[in-house]
Amino acid sequence: MQVQALIALLLPLAAASGWYTARRHYQRKFLEEHVHPLTQAYRRGLNYLLDDKTDKAIAAVGQILEQDDESLEVQIAFGNLFRRRGEVERAIEIHTRLRATVGLTESQRARADFELALDYLRAGLYDRSESLFLSLVESKTHGKPALQQLLLIYQQQKEWQKAIDCIIPLRRVMKPKHGETAAHFYCELAEEAMNFHRLKDARDYLAQALKDDAHSVRATIAKGRLELGNGEYRQAFESFQSLEGQNPIYLSVVLPHIRLCSERLGQERELMDYLDALYQSYGLVSAAVECAIRLRQRDGIAAAIDYLIPILEKTPDSLAISHALSMLSEDHHHGSQKMRRLSALLKDMMEGGQQFCCEHCGFGSSQIYWRCPSCQYWGSVRPTGPFSALDVQEDDSQKPR
Ligand SMILES: [Zn+2]
Repeated sequence: MQVQALIALLLPLAAASGWYTARRHYQRKFLEEHVHPLTQAYRRGLNYLLDDKTDKAIAAVGQILEQDDESLEVQIAFGNLFRRRGEVERAIEIHTRLRATVGLTESQRARADFELALDYLRAGLYDRSESLFLSLVESKTHGKPALQQLLLIYQQQKEWQKAIDCIIPLRRVMKPKHGETAAHFYCELAEEAMNFHRLKDARDYLAQALKDDAHSVRATIAKGRLELGNGEYRQAFESFQSLEGQNPIYLSVVLPHIRLCSERLGQERELMDYLDALYQSYGLVSAAVECAIRLRQRDGIAAAIDYLIPILEKTPDSLAISHALSMLSEDHHHGSQKMRRLSALLKDMMEGGQQFCCEHCGFGSSQIYWRCPSCQYWGSVRPTGPFSALDVQEDDSQKPR
């Protein structure tokens, strides 16, 4: 009785176990026949891609296509591989065919359009690329990346107003430093306007730049230069002076302009006090050197040297040393030749050295760039000092950089 009951109890279990084993068997068979080759091909393709072996990757993806030729993802990946390889015509062919597929959802069609626009961009067909990206601007899935691509295109083509138009909607959906970028675009527009003597437009653009980025040293410098070129020395001086509240290190860049403003305003005495204050407040040795040059003109070489020596003791600086030596060499006839030589060597050394450096990629330069030529970042090239831009022509005051 007990044995029968046990059998009765175990029979359904055995049946269930048989059913379970069979199910596992067919599941495994299905996976082995259909899914595993696909995932293996995907994995293989992916590995080739990661190793940059695009030829083998294309072959692997081709295998997937043979088994699953309806997959949107695979077709897109396939087209992208061709684009990566530089075979843009084939990429365009695949993505165009995909776009024409009936029954795509809105986001699938947007995806195909986006990839095709990237193909056109790669092929240098900017008009087609631009119009496709523009058609995607309202897309829920691809609006933001389309705007970002348009932003890159317009920067490359120096279409600053259009670039600004792209930034406005982008600012609503993300919060990077787009205020600063927009300010650079307005500065570009202002410089174009200045080149064509459209001073009112230039002023408006610069005001807009400062509205977007109150710390835009570029806009402030450009505004000062604009007023300087226009003979408005008071406004120019005030503009340069406002760099103190933005980033005082940039005052080194405009010292020659400040000097010119003061000369025109007949405020040379005040200039010396101001330059000394810049050194005392911000440690700007270049301002101290300018002050020493004025002092020399007014009170003689000895006074200038007396002013410079304690500064040099406190802040050893090749620019200041060079100027001190240069003054000394003119003062004392004995050994002056050697001193002149030393001074010239020091000057060469300084002129050859970089004065600006990109905070983002480390690019070094002897001139200021508002956009790093190396990493293309805006506003990342900063002064590193020392500065010796002591000669400025009034007529180049309107030129950018
Ligand atoms: Zn850089």
